[in-house]
Amino acid sequence: MKHLMIRFQIVTLRGFDGEPLIKILAARNVTAELRERRCVALVRAVKIAPTILWFRLDLRLADNAALRLALERGGPVVPVYILDDEAEGRWAMGAASRWWLHQSLLALDASLRERGSRLILARGGSEKILREIATQTGANAVVWSRRYEPAVIERDKKIKASLAGSGLTAISANSALLFEPHAVQNKSGKPFQVFTPFWRHCLSLPMAEPVPVALPNLFPSPGRWPQSLEPRELGLLPNIQWDTGFYAAWNPGENGAQARLKAFLEESSAGYGTARDVPGAGATSRLSPHLHFGEIGPRQIWAAARALGKSAGVFPVNEGVQKFLSEVGWREFAHHLLYHFPHTPERPLRTEFEAFPWAEDAGGAKLKAWQRGLTGYPIVDAGMRELWHTGWMHNRVRMVAASFLVKHLRLPWTQGAAWFWDTLVDADLASNTLGWQWVSGCGADAAPYFRIFASVLQGVKFDGEGDYVRRWVPELGRLPNEHLHAPWEAPEHVLARAGVVLGETYPRPIVDHAKARDAALKAFKTLKADASDAA
Ligand SMILES: Cc1cc2nc3c(=O)[nH]c(=O)nc-3n(C[C@H](O)[C@H](O)[C@H](O)COP(=O)(O)OP(=O)(O)OC[C@H]3O[C@@H](n4cnc5c(N)ncnc54)[C@H](O)[C@@H]3O)c2cc1C
Repeated sequence: MKHLMIRFQIVTLRGFDGEPLIKILAARNVTAELRERRCVALVRAVKIAPTILWFRLDLRLADNAALRLALERGGPVVPVYILDDEAEGRWAMGAASRWWLHQSLLALDASLRERGSRLILARGGSEKILREIATQTGANAVVWSRRYEPAVIERDKKIKASLAGSGLTAISANSALLFEPHAVQNKSGKPFQVFTPFWRHCLSLPMAEPVPVALPNLFPSPGRWPQSLEPRELGLLPNIQWDTGFYAAWNPGENGAQARLKAFLEESSAGYGTARDVPGAGATSRLSPHLHFGEIGPRQIWAAARALGKSAGVFPVNEGVQKFLSEVGWREFAHHLLYHFPHTPERPLRTEFEAFPWAEDAGGAKLKAWQRGLTGYPIVDAGMRELWHTGWMHNRVRMVAASFLVKHLRLPWTQGAAWFWDTLVDADLASNTLGWQWVSGCGADAAPYFRIFASVLQGVKFDGEGDYVRRWVPELGRLPNEHLHAPWEAPEHVLARAGVVLGETYPRPIVDHAKARDAALKAFKTLKADASDAA
């Protein structure tokens, strides 16, 4: 019989603060995996209580500050996702976001299972569920990554205080932003309201590195897992199948996010500075839903962009990357504004716009035409159909389509924001609010109201070859470029040759651009008059 010589070493397990919790004896000359298993078993034996890792908008393992805290505690980790619609206030996730969330939770669960763990799913009030899980597992701590939506901040504050009141440790961390809103202020100690000084100030501060998370091959797990719902039981997928186009367009989850960042940096970033405005070019990163759900974080993006220029010793490596990083900066700015002006998802930052004379829309017919991509303006309709089919719309077209709703149809920006909220896979309270208030002229650093996007000119300028409109409005596909963006001006024989019958195969414009523009400017002037009357 062979004798196996086993040598031992002392392994120190440390707590949150780095203080040693306990020293254990672990076999040295066994495989790392076996050693890890034994450590896990020993941890159970000495009963370091489990930690609940409450996943929210941080659905990744790398650079996840909350996960790092949970692992550092040394005991078993219980990963949990809770669908808590009530806590989101008026902004419970829309249908497209729910589709994304379903896929992303599957991806996260798969990554955890590769490491001997799993994701517990629950639906309902977060505090009640966290307490139930703590009771079931004996957990004495909950850790999470911070969110910045007003209703969620309030909810989280209450939960933190209440858990602490019952002797449970509750710790939050930053996994979502480069510069958290409470840590940034202008020279007068106030929040910024203009992007350029905001971003200049941020860039003068130390840049956060990705949080190193020492991911074990085997996560320390509880002896008994608490109850979990099946993913389908969260009811996130639609009953009517409008989501078929989503599967081809996206690969939700941490791996999909990393692949997209890599592809963008290697293939498109150099030309991003100019091509980013061309909707048919596919030149932007399409990282927005991944960023919203925290499948990737801005610290990781920054580090990857830095690595790109490392060999050349240049950062940013070119203007394209610089522009891209400043767009990531707009995301930071959006969170800054939402945090400091929490009323803005419902009300304009510039209060004079509260009195804006919006137009009537009998039966909601105009709103419906806009939502369905049937306004008669091809670039607007292409954008609205891209949104419906893929859950995403190119930024240039978001601006044109939003401007059309607010200025040509003179319908309230909140109606547009609500539609985007329901249909975008990247629907994000901070960025959506900023986007709509920017277009409407009623927000911080906004485009002035009197600057009205001419949809036809925007189409000609940014989709001159018509790739984008032809893709999403195929019934106009055979029109020559010079008539593609204003089919109502095309001669009869051109329309006939292209198989277009206005009012039948494609709508006539629902408003006349020049008249709509005049009406919008008139409405804006009443606002200015009101403001000076009040002064
Ligand atoms: C009316 C309107 C509504 C919008 N709603 C949202 C929304 O709900 N969610 C959302 O993420 N973005 C929103 N945006 C901003 C922008 O359109 C998208 O972030 C962008 O189109 C996403 O595509 P991308 O990932 O390829 O961007 P890229 O051009 O590759 O930019 C990289 C990242 O920077 C951030 N970013 C870029 N532009 C902006 C911007 N203007 N504001 C804030 N962040 C930006 C995004 O996180 C984006 O993923 C909105 C814009 C408008 C005009």
